Amino acid sequence: MSKLLEIKHLKKYYGKTCGIEDVTLSINEGEIYGFIGPNGAGKSTTIRTIIGLIKKNDGKIFYNGKELDMSDIKVKESIGYLPSEVNLYKEYTVKEMLDYHETFYKKNINKRRKELVKLLKLDELKRIEDLSLGNLKKVGIVLALMHEPKFLILDEPTSGLDPIMQSVLHDILIEEKNKGTTILYSSHVLSEVSNLCDTIGFIKNGVIIKEDSLVNIKNNSYTYLTITSAEVDKIKKDLGLKVKEENDNTIIFINNIDANTIIKKLSKYNIERLLIEEVSLEDLFSSFYK
Ligand code: ADP
Repeated sequence: MSKLLEIKHLKKYYGKTCGIEDVTLSINEGEIYGFIGPNGAGKSTTIRTIIGLIKKNDGKIFYNGKELDMSDIKVKESIGYLPSEVNLYKEYTVKEMLDYHETFYKKNINKRRKELVKLLKLDELKRIEDLSLGNLKKVGIVLALMHEPKFLILDEPTSGLDPIMQSVLHDILIEEKNKGTTILYSSHVLSEVSNLCDTIGFIKNGVIIKEDSLVNIKNNSYTYLTITSAEVDKIKKDLGLKVKEENDNTIIFINNIDANTIIKKLSKYNIERLLIEEVSLEDLFSSFYK
């Protein structure tokens, strides 16, 4: 698979404040990449650096195998960007805003605009300043997508959208992916992207702490091992596993020992109850952030 975007050791400080410390990630052509991390982790800083809205202090960004140059009009036209906060000309109507955007492109982008406006149930006659947060977001989505970019960068795209519109947006993104569009999707909620993404990059304190395919992340070797036994203290010493919770004679371990070995080890104890469960993606995610 060829890489569309490759970021190496990207660093950005706002004066003395760290925006991102060391971001290294790569996005394959045609995939949806979930860029996940808590608020303040550095997602927007990374994205704004890619777009060229802010200047990096260090590191390199490659796009299509070449160092990214946002002043190259062809490159610019191939990218669609939805900022986390959409700021537009307040006095314009939605129609005027979208008409204005159309004038930037030589190709006719009116057809896709109309489709998107319809899908998102957007009222073009409303003035920007009268729009709710959700409707403003929808205008941002149309602006990011209407020129049919090859690479779509969405910073927290569903914030402000109601669940129905979130699902409409996800359908649009799946359609985009099927057309071959590559998508960078940032969110602070893993569950939001876990049904959509091919790869997930986790960012914490300005550093990518894990990047892997969703399949590999789901097939992680961790399970919850719950044991109820009067000999729970001995078992704890014997297994040497990390404890998630304990209560009287019951203990929940975060287990990465294979099932056969566990069964052999436990056979010498008197066990009342034994449960082995898959670790949820959410718990796995939060374990990265401890
Ligand atoms: P995220 O998008 O993951 O919520 P940000 O990239 O917005 O994270 O923020 C990363 C860090 O950079 C935070 O500590 C934040 O306070 C800081 N930061 C972001 N923007 C600015 C700015 N304009 N000036 C100073 N610090 C900033």
